[in-house]
Amino acid sequence: MAARPYATLVPRQTHRILAGHCWVFRSEFQTIVGEAVDGEPLEIRDQRGTVVGSGLYSAQSQIAVRLLSRRSVEFDAAFFRDRLRQARALRDQRLGGRPARRLVSSEGDLLPGLIVDQYGDRLVVQTTTVGMDRRLPMWLDLLKAEFSPAQIVERNDLTVRRHEGLPERTGVLHGPADTRLVVRVGRCDVEVDLLDPHKTGSYLDQQLNHEAVARWVVPGARVLDCFCHLAGFGVHALLAGAKEAVAVDSAEASIAGARRSAELAQVGDRLVTHCANAFDWLRAADDARETFDLVVLDPPSFTRNKDSVAGAMRGYKEIHVRGLRRLGVGGRLATFTCSHHVSAAMFLETVLEAAVDARRILRLEETLSASPDHPVLPTIPESQYLKGFVFSVMEAF
Ligand code: SAH
Repeated sequence: MAARPYATLVPRQTHRILAGHCWVFRSEFQTIVGEAVDGEPLEIRDQRGTVVGSGLYSAQSQIAVRLLSRRSVEFDAAFFRDRLRQARALRDQRLGGRPARRLVSSEGDLLPGLIVDQYGDRLVVQTTTVGMDRRLPMWLDLLKAEFSPAQIVERNDLTVRRHEGLPERTGVLHGPADTRLVVRVGRCDVEVDLLDPHKTGSYLDQQLNHEAVARWVVPGARVLDCFCHLAGFGVHALLAGAKEAVAVDSAEASIAGARRSAELAQVGDRLVTHCANAFDWLRAADDARETFDLVVLDPPSFTRNKDSVAGAMRGYKEIHVRGLRRLGVGGRLATFTCSHHVSAAMFLETVLEAAVDARRILRLEETLSASPDHPVLPTIPESQYLKGFVFSVMEAF
């Protein structure tokens, strides 16, 4: 067998990878020995020639290699099947019989470049690196063998694929053409379309948080579910005893989905929906002095890179000032950021600055993160993107 191609790392920059991150940047290569082929295995060695890991090479991306292992391994179907089974075991343990769950979460499952979501007997696949994309036929075989799915949908309409020189692509790869289904997410049935441009049909990372936040609902509460998508927070709050939930989202498809979720949960008469820009809507609600007992803020990532963080923080502050002013003493705020550029500490600081402006004293009641089917590798900060807090308003002055 021909010697495996490998890259050596420039000195002094190896510590990040040795410390547990799996991305090797092109700028960290010193030499490449042998031929590095797009999408194919490449080993990484330190200055002394010791293997520090092996991964798949991306010829076009600045992230030239994503390590799949710290050892020198053969990337055959058996290797990937083992990883897939490990990923499944975690979900079976942590999410039990829930039919909707993320089966494979890229770096979090040591399978960088692969995401697989399960909705009942259907699977949705995303490949974000050229190495995983080339292996899509193998993944289809493995997924069919391990899960016998009724349908497999490809959702490769992800702009990150451009960095890898990959085209955007969606479609049904296996099974019937209809991609809509009703599936239980949390305690509610929701209608999802697996070709819905929002994630892969729904935000599974919030699945357990919908229930966690609902535990803060007091009977008869009035709830605001801002940036609601399918109103997972609002509908769970209604099922937990809220009198009314107001759900706001700028996408018409989200609002239609939210209405459908509420109907399926038989709380449609208590869900009020507004298709609006949440910034405008919150300003108007603030002017009108509307009041709520629970405000949920779950905006999209306001920042995709470090340069836009300052603007994002201003956006977070604005919605928090307005959201907090709509709460009286005893009211609760459940708030989330899904940007890995915004740390939990930065986010907390911004909420507290907003509380000063809104003249509210807050007590931190609960800290939340993505549901356990989105595992976190503490050495890879990008995997810890979703941060949430529940606060109570102790005093308004
Ligand atoms: N809370 C949802 C997930 C929300 S994701 C859940 O738990 O499932 C963010 C949502 O914000 C998306 O549905 C998107 O359509 C919506 N959105 C994005 N920008 C917005 C804006 N400016 N105003 C209102 N909604 C917005």
